[in-house]
Amino acid sequence: MPKQELPYRKLANGVANQTVFEFENVSCTLVGFRTSDYVTGINVPGYHLHFINEKRSTDEHVLEFELENGTTALDSTPSFFMEFPKSYSFTKVELGQDLKIEMETVEK
Ligand SMILES: [Zn+2]
Repeated sequence: MPKQELPYRKLANGVANQTVFEFENVSCTLVGFRTSDYVTGINVPGYHLHFINEKRSTDEHVLEFELENGTTALDSTPSFFMEFPKSYSFTKVELGQDLKIEMETVEK
């Protein structure tokens, strides 16, 4: 996703301008998390993975991948910490909307 300037557009609108990279036969680290349905509105339920190359010089959101071989590790955690901006403009953001359909668009 390109960096946005004020006034910020909705994420689904910004996705139209995102660049999609395709890598083949690369070694990398995929790191991310899986969140449950009850986080809808704060995050996207399901898997959210990022691609980190071997040089650790890039970190890209993963839309899709095929794994030929690798090692996996899972860390189950019963809690997480989320910090919100303290700015006045953030207090004016409407967070109560159901963004499920919009978020599904973003993740595809
Ligand atoms: Zn991401």
